[in-house]
Amino acid sequence: MNQTTQTLPKVAPEPIPRISIIGAGIAGLALACRLASNIRVSIFEARDQTSIGHSYAITLDKRSWKPLARALRRQNHQSFRQATAVDRLIKGTGQVHRDSSPKSATFQAVDRDVRQWLVQGLIEKGVQIHWSHKLTGIKEASNGRGAELSFENNAKAEADFIIDAGGLQSPAFDHAKPSAIKPKLLPYATYYGTRQYAANTFMDRFGHWFGEGNVIEFAPAKAGEPFIYLQKVHLPGKQSSDHSVELRWLYSRPPRASGNDPLYRPNRAPEEAKDIPPELYTEILQSIKQYYSEGRRDILRQFFTLQDLQNDRILNWHLRLRLPTLDYFVSNATKPSYNITAIGDAAHSFPVVRSRGANIALDDARQYERLLRSYLLGEDDVFRTDPNFYKASEMYATWYGQARDAVQRLREAHSQDLLSEDELGGTVGFSFNMDTLKGVRLAGENGSTFPELSSESEEEVKGSL
Ligand SMILES: Cc1cc2nc3c(=O)[nH]c(=O)nc-3n(C[C@H](O)[C@H](O)[C@H](O)COP(=O)(O)OP(=O)(O)OC[C@H]3O[C@@H](n4cnc5c(N)ncnc54)[C@H](O)[C@@H]3O)c2cc1C
Repeated sequence: MNQTTQTLPKVAPEPIPRISIIGAGIAGLALACRLASNIRVSIFEARDQTSIGHSYAITLDKRSWKPLARALRRQNHQSFRQATAVDRLIKGTGQVHRDSSPKSATFQAVDRDVRQWLVQGLIEKGVQIHWSHKLTGIKEASNGRGAELSFENNAKAEADFIIDAGGLQSPAFDHAKPSAIKPKLLPYATYYGTRQYAANTFMDRFGHWFGEGNVIEFAPAKAGEPFIYLQKVHLPGKQSSDHSVELRWLYSRPPRASGNDPLYRPNRAPEEAKDIPPELYTEILQSIKQYYSEGRRDILRQFFTLQDLQNDRILNWHLRLRLPTLDYFVSNATKPSYNITAIGDAAHSFPVVRSRGANIALDDARQYERLLRSYLLGEDDVFRTDPNFYKASEMYATWYGQARDAVQRLREAHSQDLLSEDELGGTVGFSFNMDTLKGVRLAGENGSTFPELSSESEEEVKGSL
């Protein structure tokens, strides 16, 4: 029987289903916060509380963060922005570019601060997060009701609904079909550097280039030239009176057509990401001379000296896209007495450059909450009948659309021509037939299959790394 059309087994709805979220990333925390007002949830995170999150910036758009902040009703929703903006330490609002509208709802937030804000929201709602609980196994409970979850620290828990929000490793999923989840590597030579300054030094030297914004982009004039991106994040110091500024930069271009390209290393091992070919330094300095007009060249020269580059922490990034097939998701959800659903990066991961991963994770949490609530109210049966969650909520169609958009955004950032429909299918890994979803109730706010980007959203996407 085709797995996408079979009837899913009944999940025990009585007494009240036990709901466990794996992973306290943005997806898991946002979902827990949304449910916690009147549904009991457990949340398990592999790391301890002090080590969650990263200091990098994520560009959040209003479609994603405003509904979340509103749903949490913690003070007014501006408090979310004030608590998480990359430049909050200098009373900034996370404005993306210096010429972005100050009224734009799109802003740059620090990943770690977003997580901490959500954690605080859960604490206020009385939800305990089970830190240092790394999920290691899931099996049917011995009484046949629900699943038994095992953790590395030997703890056990039981659940009827398991939400895998565990990021790239999708820890609750059965990876028996590795070909279904193998990421596609996209052809770019991409390098990402980080350096830190004392805040005063940074602002004196570079503050005027950024103005009120936090990102400066140098788009290539034509395909083949590099895309350069500079981003600043203000980080608290040990004492409240001092803070530092982290400058993050990106240098990215397609591989050289000649094939002789020391910067393009698709076959390097993960541990070799830190091994930086010396040709990178010369190429960056040479590109600044060659491709940019006087004014822009002057800005870039200030940021990139040979000495700075040699001292930077640089990584060679592989830009990957991973979207498993719909069958893969459905076969994982189909368990005799419990249900597993993936959201956020556990379900899909898109290239980091021009990423909307965090925004999509927030959308996933919103859709999951909506469907779970209607299931619990007896209004909907999506978790146990066909079409299942991924189809009924149009999640999968949205993800497929996002995967295609991610490829196009990357091409746009590199001034490359956009791909045709056929070429896109090849890049995403497979073509998904939208007819599979015919007759399925639409979940998008405006009923469209792929949410249209408003002009503000387009600006947001451009601000994303
Ligand atoms: C440098 C950079 C810049 C980015 N910029 C943007 C941007 O501008 N805009 C945007 O929208 N997105 C951006 N992204 C992508 C975005 O950060 C991710 O898509 C998003 O954070 C994914 O959230 P998540 O909750 O799904 O997964 P994660 O953040 O990976 O969280 C998963 C959590 O699960 C935990 N976990 C893993 N395994 C287990 C286990 N076995 N048991 C228990 N817990 C487990 C992990 O410790 C982690 O805390 C960027 C990413 C990077 C790296």
